[in-house]
Amino acid sequence: MIPAAFEYESPRTLGEALALLASRADAKLLAGGHSLLPAMKLRVAAPATLIDLGRISGLSYIRNAGQQIAIGAMTTHAEIAGCDLLHAASPLLAETAAHIGDVQVRNRGTIGGSLAHADPAADYPAAILALDAEMVAMSERGERIIPARKFFTGLMTTALRPNEILTEIRVPRTGGTTGGAGTAYKKFHHPASGFAVVGVAAVVKLRRGNIESAAIGITGVGVHAYRAAAVEAALRGKPLSAIANAAEKAAGKVEALGDSYASAEYRRHLAQVFTRRALQAAAKAAGK
Ligand SMILES: Cc1cc2nc3c(=O)[nH]c(=O)nc-3n(C[C@H](O)[C@H](O)[C@H](O)COP(=O)(O)OP(=O)(O)OC[C@H]3O[C@@H](n4cnc5c(N)ncnc54)[C@H](O)[C@@H]3O)c2cc1C
Repeated sequence: MIPAAFEYESPRTLGEALALLASRADAKLLAGGHSLLPAMKLRVAAPATLIDLGRISGLSYIRNAGQQIAIGAMTTHAEIAGCDLLHAASPLLAETAAHIGDVQVRNRGTIGGSLAHADPAADYPAAILALDAEMVAMSERGERIIPARKFFTGLMTTALRPNEILTEIRVPRTGGTTGGAGTAYKKFHHPASGFAVVGVAAVVKLRRGNIESAAIGITGVGVHAYRAAAVEAALRGKPLSAIANAAEKAAGKVEALGDSYASAEYRRHLAQVFTRRALQAAAKAAGK
């Protein structure tokens, strides 16, 4: 299908993009276009203006930032999946990115676009939550940091304000020489789209063979990704043998989505199975 007519703007600086966003009614930012353009073609979205972030330099990077790794919003999934720095210092995000779609999607889609779009079946939200990442949102008034736990607010809605651009994602160091946590992402792929029917990201810290702490982010089950707080509480200070029972609480009180491929009941079941697998893999990585 052909999208409705729209104005196209191609700012060269973040300041220009922010000014355009503040001054144009019904404007949308364009990143990789892999979610927005299909929606426009189906006329689910019909923005009056597209503000293309693609020609702004300095929004695509992965670099050290003290105890965190900073990732520019326009960094592609492929760049994240292949980043040596992330593999060494915070591998969960790289592992998650490698699960997204296919080569074309990974070469074009961006982390900022994916997180701002907040598809309930997107992969990154699980990892972002498990890592307690920080989102940097810019407006003409300055910078605001949104913790991951406050970022996803509903079906395809986030805490970003209409005049804000997500510019950076900050994840903590979990591995290498300064961390010591084990991480893993386990996903049940939709066979057609590759999206997560259910995806579970886990960060596990061990102490003397027991679980000191576990952080679990789950995507695909409800209208937005969530932390499996009941599983985390059930594992604190417990031996690894507690994982199987604790994982049964993975879907908790979440209202599970159902569709023609996977019923709500099946999604709840997958959440338990993939939580167990992600926790076991993360605990194994922590023990290395
Ligand atoms: C065939 C196919 C398979 C896919 N499979 C998967 C999968 O398995 N897992 C998965 O997670 N995803 C999957 N995707 C989605 C893909 O990851 C997209 O790249 C992603 O959802 C959107 O990123 P984008 O850069 O393309 O954003 P766009 O489509 O350009 O934008 C998406 C939305 O975010 C807004 N936006 C973009 N950047 C910013 C920013 N910096 N600040 C604020 N708002 C912004 C836009 O205005 C728009 O509303 C798939 C897509 C396709 C087409």
